Amino acid sequence: MKINKSPWIHQLDQNRKPVSLNHDLDTDIAIVGAGIAGISTAFFLLKYTNKKVAIFDQGKLAHGATGHNAGQVVARFERPLSELVGEFGFEKTKRALHDLHSGWILLDEMYTDANLDILFSRISGHRGFSDLYQVILALKDLEIEISAGFPKNEFFVSDKAPFLDSIPNSFINLYKVISHTEILKKLETEDKDFYAVRSDQRACVNSALFCQETVLYLLKKFSHRFSLYENTHIIKAVLKKSSVFLDAGKHTIHAEKVVLCSNGFENIEIFNEGGLAIDKKFHHLVEGVVGYMSGYLEAMNKKAAAIEYFPENEDPSKADPYFYLTRRPHEMGDEKHNLVCVGGPEVSIKDREEYLFDYDYPEKIQADIDAFIKKEYDTDPNRKIDYEFTWHGLMGYTPNRVRLIGEEPKNRVLLYNLGCNGIGIIPSIYGGRRISRIIAGEKLQSSIFDPRG
Ligand SMILES: Cc1cc2nc3c(=O)[nH]c(=O)nc-3n(C[C@H](O)[C@H](O)[C@H](O)COP(=O)(O)OP(=O)(O)OC[C@H]3O[C@@H](n4cnc5c(N)ncnc54)[C@H](O)[C@@H]3O)c2cc1C
Repeated sequence: MKINKSPWIHQLDQNRKPVSLNHDLDTDIAIVGAGIAGISTAFFLLKYTNKKVAIFDQGKLAHGATGHNAGQVVARFERPLSELVGEFGFEKTKRALHDLHSGWILLDEMYTDANLDILFSRISGHRGFSDLYQVILALKDLEIEISAGFPKNEFFVSDKAPFLDSIPNSFINLYKVISHTEILKKLETEDKDFYAVRSDQRACVNSALFCQETVLYLLKKFSHRFSLYENTHIIKAVLKKSSVFLDAGKHTIHAEKVVLCSNGFENIEIFNEGGLAIDKKFHHLVEGVVGYMSGYLEAMNKKAAAIEYFPENEDPSKADPYFYLTRRPHEMGDEKHNLVCVGGPEVSIKDREEYLFDYDYPEKIQADIDAFIKKEYDTDPNRKIDYEFTWHGLMGYTPNRVRLIGEEPKNRVLLYNLGCNGIGIIPSIYGGRRISRIIAGEKLQSSIFDPRG
């Protein structure tokens, strides 16, 4: 039987002693959730305001999605940009893209201030496509990015692509035709069903270790204004007109504002004494999806990489099911290897249905991932792969797959930086900075991230 064992949690300090809340507490800003969203929000609040900040987590620091992801740093939405333009218009989508990309600079700011020396591997990323529909969608995205002022990323189509002549002429300047062999080389596969590749720059990081080290810095630098309480479940939030009470079981927290950085809907009830009901709305804002990944070690003889494989999609009305692979240097004790991680399989769970991080890892999912690796990447039929790590994590998806960042319109005492939506590292960091600006009283332009009424 396989257990939930993530390589990122494995690298955390196992001797660190978590502190839980053992008294009633008064603070300025209460943050629920100690994943990358909560830690980034605390970082920017402490740096750019004078507020006292306390974070609460029902479990341990960075043991949520932040400790169970693929660790790719990428400034992207989990939805085609052409759809976002359809929903929000070009100008707002353009602004949101620039906002997301500012996450790279913010990440750098956190690294620099906290003097972090944890591994940050810059990599070239490739997305492999196999049908015309996927290629047109990706070219439309590229066209929007260029119109929004971003440099042109590389896009290649195989000279053997059966749909080469069907690509609309208007896209002709966006892609280069190359040999099929070169396409497969970029995707590191021999599977001839892939005909196009989009390449871009990304990075890999252990986001759990990033949180752990950032917290150590914050605890030292802001010792009088910052505290972290783990194993402290916030059961209820009672919103008043200008403050909030949080029920943590045996103890109560009183704060000016609360920021939910809880990824999704997990186990919290919201009472709005200041007006209209929020709880029901909140629980319809996010849907739970469990993502599964497996990882194994190989010799350190290849460059770090990130590749996504989109097989032909039989039902274009549904989002493409795809597998994603990363390879990056990984330290285990004194030894260095490459760690190959593969994800893709996902399962939806219902609102308020319990998800536990120590659920077993299903054999069927492991078999699907193994079959994928054997088909696309590690194709030696005689090699039996020994999976050192198998893990799963919960992702809160908002209905439109855009992160929620900002004040709850029905009561501004409540703020959100949540909705992990599959790609959440950069959006969480950007969200943290945006929340700090809102709380500092800055007047911000409206955004696609704003919670709506
Ligand atoms: C399999 C998988 C692969 C992924 N791959 C990538 C990737 O490659 N790149 C990328 O950018 N993103 C990826 N993501 C998404 C990314 O990991 C998340 O978006 C990000 O970690 C979310 O951070 P968070 O802080 O919002 O949530 P979390 O890390 O889940 O933190 C939320 C915390 O809130 C706590 N909490 C919730 N409710 C309460 C409560 N009532 N009281 C107290 N505490 C509470 C939880 O215990 C948890 O620790 C992936 C996610 C998964 C699951």
